[in-house]
Amino acid sequence: MIDDPLSTSSATSRPPRRFSLRRRVLGESENKIGLRPVEGWQKRNMDFLNQVLIPTILAPRKPGCHYGDLPVASPEQIGVTWLGHAGFFAQVGGLNIAIDPVWALWLGPAKRLRHPSVWAHDLPPIDLVLITHAHHDHLHLASLRKLAAAQPIIVPEGVGSLVKNCGFGRIVELKTWQSATFGDLRITLTPARHWGARMIHDTHRGFGGYLIQSPSQTLYHCGDSSMFDGFTEIGKRSRIDVALMPIGAYQPPSGRPVHMNPEEALDAFEMVGARHMVPMHFETYPLSGEPLHEPIERLELAAKEREIYDRVRRLREGESAVFCPP
Ligand SMILES: [Zn+2]
Repeated sequence: MIDDPLSTSSATSRPPRRFSLRRRVLGESENKIGLRPVEGWQKRNMDFLNQVLIPTILAPRKPGCHYGDLPVASPEQIGVTWLGHAGFFAQVGGLNIAIDPVWALWLGPAKRLRHPSVWAHDLPPIDLVLITHAHHDHLHLASLRKLAAAQPIIVPEGVGSLVKNCGFGRIVELKTWQSATFGDLRITLTPARHWGARMIHDTHRGFGGYLIQSPSQTLYHCGDSSMFDGFTEIGKRSRIDVALMPIGAYQPPSGRPVHMNPEEALDAFEMVGARHMVPMHFETYPLSGEPLHEPIERLELAAKEREIYDRVRRLREGESAVFCPP
């Protein structure tokens, strides 16, 4: 059961209210990226259409991959299965969690490059669903309806209205750094540098990532973010075992700095101080101008150069990994 998030912050750890509120509002505006495209967006749009979007529309969709039965992680372990893009089936503290699950074959004109390897019906019953923000490649209503079975869903502040008719038992909205508890798990919405509008005018919607803390290990899902100092603070507040980090969509046609490139994602991984990194947000949907094969190649090269390659675990869509406590 999820406690009232407002009651989960202890009085001793909460700063004076006036200071806290002011700081939060300033912080959110600093981390919220505006909608205005950067000069040169017309050419970037044409390049994206011609070099990425149209070729993927014309190419046949690749078949899904199958890696056998999903592993069952013990309560002390962390299990993660990549569902594609930012979507994961995670097992933390013995509970089954779905994060940003999207099974759409099309997101508008963006064609999913391969069939999903693990569908909703391949998953065991889901105890809890987490959504990082309302963008269509993270919050997909038809996908959520496939999973919903009266369990709770946690979303950032201002996103709950979008999921109210999906079939979830309870909708919990969190502000940045606010936590909710679910059994032995503590779920905290972490800051990100991004934006939350699903359309254009609904810029009030929140966005972020999640710390999912069990008594033995912590999983971090970054959500979408560009580089910012917040990663250092996230690392200070938690000892992270596994970080799910986005590495693609760093050349958006708009030119807005809304995502990290692979080297920045590695920087962020080191800033949060996690033991292991699993890359995500690449090779699933064509959303950005960089060549589709580039993010993972750059990531692997940079990780080798930094001699942290053994801490980066690349998963294929549908593939799982189980991480033991240190
Ligand atoms: Zn986004």
